[in-house]
Amino acid sequence: MRVELHCHSTASDGVLTPGQLVERAAQREIGFLALTDHDTTAGYRPAAVAAEAFDMEVIPGIEISCHAGGREVHVLGYFYDVDDEPLQNMLARMRDSRLERVDRLLERLDELELPLTREQVLAQAAGTSVGRPHVADAMIEAGYVKNRDQAFDNYLGKGKPAFMPRQNLTVKEAVERLNEAGGVAVLAHPHLIGDIKLVAELLDLGFAGIEVWHPSHGRKEVKRYRRLARSRRLVPTGGSDFHIPEDSGRPDLGSMKVSSECVEALRERSKARA
Ligand code: AMP
Ligand code: FE
Ligand code: FE
Ligand code: ZN
Repeated sequence: MRVELHCHSTASDGVLTPGQLVERAAQREIGFLALTDHDTTAGYRPAAVAAEAFDMEVIPGIEISCHAGGREVHVLGYFYDVDDEPLQNMLARMRDSRLERVDRLLERLDELELPLTREQVLAQAAGTSVGRPHVADAMIEAGYVKNRDQAFDNYLGKGKPAFMPRQNLTVKEAVERLNEAGGVAVLAHPHLIGDIKLVAELLDLGFAGIEVWHPSHGRKEVKRYRRLARSRRLVPTGGSDFHIPEDSGRPDLGSMKVSSECVEALRERSKARA
């Protein structure tokens, strides 16, 4: 049985609906699945309903966009109460700030003579968690670029002409909110943060786990973060960060080495605090 603890649906910037993700996960013999859409839990219930047809548990999951030390940091959450009001209010504010950022981004694209309307971008998003990938999709549709990678490499990525920052939460706020909602927080893809000292500091903020197996981690990083998990008594987790099927060699659902023991360890930690 496989485990998938990091993937995206159409509720944020993935291209499969929650139901399609569950079907693909079932075909790939995944027994535990967490959708970790950016700043929204909207995919959880449809996924849980779809999973009733299979021998699969859908775990509430999320990936929250945060910042720390001038860097972008993603905080994964699991096993929280989906109906927790303070958590949902916080996420709703984040999605509002995503929409506001789309407007600023479109002004910049206008200056670059790549005009797009807000409607063209929103048409690419099924939910309300709208991000750069949807802008990229609208750019593809308008014939400005061939694919999402090209849009990021030429325009939308950090340091590129149409890069536009967004108001993110502090890591502390996100971790505390998840913990208070009965969940656990996991530090996402620490290697992408790009500052090992900052990673060490962040781990003091109430995390239960750290992502060890992620497509951005080579063997060296896996070893490093596995050791860090052990020394800090954190649950080592992982996932494919799946967004698009058959996407230029990116790993498929359930292809990261993460065990069901890891799922149970996270569950235990969430109960221990409740
Ligand atoms: P946002 O949350 O709106 O800032 O957009 C960030 C998202 O864009 C990430 O979660 C990835 O899914 C996606 N992304 C980042 N870099 C790239 C890239 N080079 N190619 C395709 N998608 C990317
Ligand atoms: Fe994404
Ligand atoms: Fe991420
Ligand atoms: Zn992700």
